[in-house]
Amino acid sequence: MGIGNLIRPVVRPAVFLDRDGVLNPTVLNPATGRMESPLSLRDFRLCDGVIPALLQIQAAGYPLILVSNQPNYALGKSSYQTLRSIQHKLETQLASAGVHFTRFCYCLHHPKGLTPGYSGKCKCRKPSPGFLLRARDDFAITLSRSWMIGDQPTDTQCGHAAGVRTIRIAPPESRVRPTLQVSDPCADYLVSNLPEAAEIILSRAVH
Ligand SMILES: [Mg+2]
Ligand SMILES: [Zn+2]
Repeated sequence: MGIGNLIRPVVRPAVFLDRDGVLNPTVLNPATGRMESPLSLRDFRLCDGVIPALLQIQAAGYPLILVSNQPNYALGKSSYQTLRSIQHKLETQLASAGVHFTRFCYCLHHPKGLTPGYSGKCKCRKPSPGFLLRARDDFAITLSRSWMIGDQPTDTQCGHAAGVRTIRIAPPESRVRPTLQVSDPCADYLVSNLPEAAEIILSRAVH
C-alpha cells in the first residue's frame, strides 16, 4: 500500500433535508392564503414515500441532518409546545420505521420576531449555511460530496453557499400550471418529491 492511500482523507458525505414541503406537506393557512408550515399537531403528517426514500439514503451510508426554519414561535403564530410536539411526532414516526437522523437543526429566529430572545438576525436562518458548516465541523462532513434537499429558493441558496449539491422539490402547483415553472439558479436538480431526490443521490453515489 502506497503512502497515498494512507493519507487520503476520509470522505464523509451527508444529506441535509429541509422539513416542510419535503418530509411533510405544507398546509394552507387561511389567514394568509399561503401554503405554510403546519400550525397544529393534527396538521402534521409525512408525505407519501418519505420513509422508503429516507431508508434508501440511510442504507447508502449518508447521515441524515434536518435543517429547518421555524419562525412561527418568534412571530407569535405558534407555541413552543406545538413546535416541540410536532418534532416529537416526526421523530417518533421516523424512529418506528428505522430512520434515524444524526441531528435536527431548527432555526427558531426571525428578523422581525416578536418573542424576546428570538428576534433579529441570526447565523442559522436559511439561506445562511450556518447549520451545514456546524455539522461539517461536528461530524467531519465532506460538504462537496453532500446534498441539500429543499422546496424553497432559500434551501438551495443555503446549500449553494455551503458548497453542497442541491436538489429542489418543485411545489405541486408548478406541475399543473406551467407558468409557475420553477427557475432556480442554485438548484443542481429539480424533482417532484423526495423519492425522486433519493434516486438522484443514489445514482450519483461514489463508493
Ligand atoms: Mg420547506
Ligand atoms: Zn436562527
